[in-house]
Amino acid sequence: MATKAAGRKPETRLALVRRARKINRILAETYPDAHCELDFTNPLELLVATILSAQCTDKRVNMVTPTLFAKYPAVADYAAADRSEVEDIIRSTGFFRAKTNSIIGMAQAVCERYGGEVPGKLKDLVTLPGVGRKTANVVLGNAFDVPGLTVDTHFQRLVRRFGWTDETDPVKIEHIVGELLPRREWTIFSHRVIWHGRRICHARRPACGVCPLAALCPSYGTGPTSEAEAEKLVKPGPFS
Ligand code: SF4
Repeated sequence: MATKAAGRKPETRLALVRRARKINRILAETYPDAHCELDFTNPLELLVATILSAQCTDKRVNMVTPTLFAKYPAVADYAAADRSEVEDIIRSTGFFRAKTNSIIGMAQAVCERYGGEVPGKLKDLVTLPGVGRKTANVVLGNAFDVPGLTVDTHFQRLVRRFGWTDETDPVKIEHIVGELLPRREWTIFSHRVIWHGRRICHARRPACGVCPLAALCPSYGTGPTSEAEAEKLVKPGPFS
């Protein structure tokens, strides 16, 4: 099957796979320190932090989690938590009532169905309240070492700009990208892409003029191509 990126000749499947792997290699060289920007020390902490990260920056989440993790060290502690106390701690992350419902509901389900241990399988994680496929993949990839693609808004935007897919459905995107890259690369590739989205390939004005992927990206020119102008758009991070 051939795909066609705007303004380019149709690309064979083989060429697409080669280009995808080259993009991954360049991102690896550009962001050798790419990692999950949420602070955690075990699967439960990462699950809670990821629930809190919806519509919120990782930096903000990392500001509230030390208090939360100290007060509720085990799943059973969240399951028995006073709702208003949790709400007070996480308020600044936004949507705090819904997030409190998710955290307490998730903890009760883990206690009832998984003996108080966060399960390490996608099929189990997605049955927990407040845990979708994206959250489950973050937890699997970073706390259980099970490769997973984290299809968040940065990821979706970037792989569409790379011309890897036109899909807008996150599950379809996950499968399409999963077939382009080796499974062992899925988790770290997700971090690299998210880092690139936060630092250079922004939603509104990507810094194309200083982008290390410029020669491989059919969307080059979406943002300013002048180096001086693009330079001003770069956000160096860190974001945590
Ligand atoms: S060339 Fe532009 S659109 Fe393509 S990845 Fe780089 S910043 Fe994004």
